[in-house]
Amino acid sequence: MNPLPSANYPLVAAGDRADAVSQRPTRARIDLDALSHNLRALRTHAGVPVMAVVKANAYGHGLVPVALHLQAQGVDQLGVAFLEEGVALRRAGVHLPILVMGGIFGPQAAELIAHDLEITVSSLDKLRQVEAAAEALGRKATIHLKIDTGMERIGVHSYHAGPFIEAAVASHWCTVKGVYSHLACADDPSSPMTAQQLERFLEACAHFERIGAPMPVRHLANSGAVLHFPHTHLDMVRPGIAIYGVLPDPASRATVDLRPVMSLVSQVVYFKVVPAGHPVSYGATWAPKTDTRVVTVPMGYGDGFPRSLSSCGEVLVRGQRHPIVGRICMDQFMVDLGPQGTAYNEDEVVLIGLQDGQHIRCEDVAQTAGTIPYEILVGLNTRIPREYVGGAAGAVAAD
Ligand SMILES: *Cc1c(COP(=O)(O)O)cnc(C)c1O
Repeated sequence: MNPLPSANYPLVAAGDRADAVSQRPTRARIDLDALSHNLRALRTHAGVPVMAVVKANAYGHGLVPVALHLQAQGVDQLGVAFLEEGVALRRAGVHLPILVMGGIFGPQAAELIAHDLEITVSSLDKLRQVEAAAEALGRKATIHLKIDTGMERIGVHSYHAGPFIEAAVASHWCTVKGVYSHLACADDPSSPMTAQQLERFLEACAHFERIGAPMPVRHLANSGAVLHFPHTHLDMVRPGIAIYGVLPDPASRATVDLRPVMSLVSQVVYFKVVPAGHPVSYGATWAPKTDTRVVTVPMGYGDGFPRSLSSCGEVLVRGQRHPIVGRICMDQFMVDLGPQGTAYNEDEVVLIGLQDGQHIRCEDVAQTAGTIPYEILVGLNTRIPREYVGGAAGAVAAD
């Protein structure tokens, strides 16, 4: 068995100043109370069980701490993309059902079963591989059948699902717990694609009835669909980004009261006056027209803060928005406070989050950077310590 990447998810406890990492002024602050709130709000809105998606280091929020918190809050199930994410959760003491949603490779089947991970079966071939591994272990596999209704990513095309469903139902070594598909356009409330995918999915599911097999758990809704398309909620929903309090797309509607879970903060490490005409940072791409006050912030694209925010992003210092000027470096970037601006070393700099009533949302940062909020969150890498706040409250009762 391969070593696990748990060391890739460093965790700095709030108030722990004992090691060098915790001295770093830059941190992603994770508000566990906001996470609880979002879970509760989404579950109430959908009215069905929730599979919280925690792939990609829980969208940058920290795989294990987020999963343990959601488990304590009574989430029904977790979803990850890859085998190793599921194994890391089992090693950390997560006992909830965990679905591995990515396409599997045959040799992974045994390890998935051994760790009691639910397996996505996305073709007849893969069904046979899982069956063979289950038989060799003498232990049944729990599977979810993946139907492709229009994403053309993984899964059996809905119009060919009949024989696939029959083979899975007939399998001695596989228990068909779920059947699911993935929506391509649910973040856009006006897209007609979602209704079409729902129709194809329900038509494929009807095959269970036709052959007299029990209907497994049908799940289809990602965050966009949870927010915009109630008919897609079916037997379980699979929100990812909404759990973290972020909308999937600028076109999305905030039909659920969500609270951002992550704030990204740093501190001023240097203050100076830059004379008119003197360029700032690599490439000398920006220079002030008048003498101006510029501070340096000790983080950069080496932390996953996008370089595309060079000379167009904004941060909060002393409760005001100020522009990022010049190119973002690997470990540092500069901010123009203007000719009259003031800031002192160690002043807080907010890149995402609230400061004195001003708010920079992850969604805003993504739009400025020319990307989606997902990429901003998951791009923040392990060099940034995660600091967990809140979360002392008791478990939320299941609705
Ligand atoms: C990532 C993922 C989700 C969650 O998507 P969000 O848009 O973050 O809600 C749900 N289902 C599958 C199959 C996924 O890969």
